[in-house]
Amino acid sequence: MQNVKRRLLNSDFCILNVEYLHHKEKIMPGFEYVDDELCCDSASISKIASKVKTPFYLYSHDTLKKNYQSYTDAFQTVDLLVCYACKANSNLSILRALGNMGSGMDVLSYGELFRALKAGISPEKIVFNGNGKTSEEMAYALQSGVFAFNVDSQNELFLLNEVAKANNIVARIALRVNPDINPLTHPYVATGLAKSKFGVPIHEAKEVYRTASTLENISVVGIHSHIGSQLSKVELYLETLKKIMALVKELHDIHIHLEFINLGGGIGIPYQESESMPHPKDLSTIISPLINDYRLILEPGRSIVGPAGVLVTRVLYIKHTHKKNFIVVDAGMNDLIRPSIYGAYHHVISATRHSNTEEIMYDIVGPICEEGDFIARERYMPRVKQGDLLIIKDAGAYGFSMSSNYNSRPRVSEVMVMDGKDYIIREREVCEDMICKESIPDILKEI
Ligand SMILES: *Cc1c(COP(=O)(O)O)cnc(C)c1O
Repeated sequence: MQNVKRRLLNSDFCILNVEYLHHKEKIMPGFEYVDDELCCDSASISKIASKVKTPFYLYSHDTLKKNYQSYTDAFQTVDLLVCYACKANSNLSILRALGNMGSGMDVLSYGELFRALKAGISPEKIVFNGNGKTSEEMAYALQSGVFAFNVDSQNELFLLNEVAKANNIVARIALRVNPDINPLTHPYVATGLAKSKFGVPIHEAKEVYRTASTLENISVVGIHSHIGSQLSKVELYLETLKKIMALVKELHDIHIHLEFINLGGGIGIPYQESESMPHPKDLSTIISPLINDYRLILEPGRSIVGPAGVLVTRVLYIKHTHKKNFIVVDAGMNDLIRPSIYGAYHHVISATRHSNTEEIMYDIVGPICEEGDFIARERYMPRVKQGDLLIIKDAGAYGFSMSSNYNSRPRVSEVMVMDGKDYIIREREVCEDMICKESIPDILKEI
């Protein structure tokens, strides 16, 4: 324990002395200080930043692997297929790396299926999700030979049957059921409540299955649910699985026999140190005994890639107003939108550790012309100065994949460290990339 002076404002004479464990931050695996320099898999982040323009995303292959293996290790007694949820991070190298480890993919658009196939993922390991599949997407997925569709509604079932018939293929399906469970998470990522737009209410599912079993080009093979994201309690999966197993039994009684049970993704990660999140082992302990001989599919996204990535950003300016101390960084809400849309917390640390024991309360904001453009608010940090590198932790999931060109900012580069060596896995966009699909009609030029 150490005394740390905390002050709200530079002009503030009232300095707070708080008992505080200095630099207690648990650096996640893959990211560690070596001689006070933060490293990613033993590669110095400052060194990488001297070659790669900030901001950029940085991923640890080692952490990715550990996180993937935490699932396969936990479920050794069960026939498990991990279908990594591509939407969390769909960079080709991330997909390829996970594919090399044996992972399948959960895709929910034409583009994600395209990426998964480009990354070399075998179609027999791909599940196609989504509540708004178009016939074009269905045809593409059928022709690619995906493992199964997670069907979201009865009307989707009818369209899929038509598209499958036109392609002379039988579509393998799981019905996405909505178990009406409150996942106790952010309302934007709570998908298993009765009012959610996703899935068929579980009490109506039997009838939809019965209908499905009569459709010529549909083969009923599984059941799917995904109750939400950033879940902190494995009991939620147990509650879901109990409801699912009761339905599976009812289906069995009407001669509908399933191959697999897909429980979706959703295990949360501790963005804040005070949060505790379940490990795949906890999930396995609670659900493995109930799975019987069914094949189990899980679709984790965040828990695999989230802690494996950080956003590296540089301090442009320090600005003190009479209300706040601002750190203006070169990463904005277009690069990482989670704080702006979910009020999400991301821990921010310095790439270089200081022995300074004074902490100042800062707001860390981006360069975009929106008041909602912030990375962190009211954060105590050791003094930061212009030019410093800051590391925004746990940014591997829903970071780059949710980024945009807002304010005509080119999307940033992505770098992955493997065996201590850094590789650019996506080059930073240039302005030409942003305008290459635009054109000015001649009529506008006639002046
Ligand atoms: C988003 C999503 C996932 C992944 O969720 P995580 O919280 O990232 O694990 C899995 N399955 C479906 C259907 C999803 O929509």
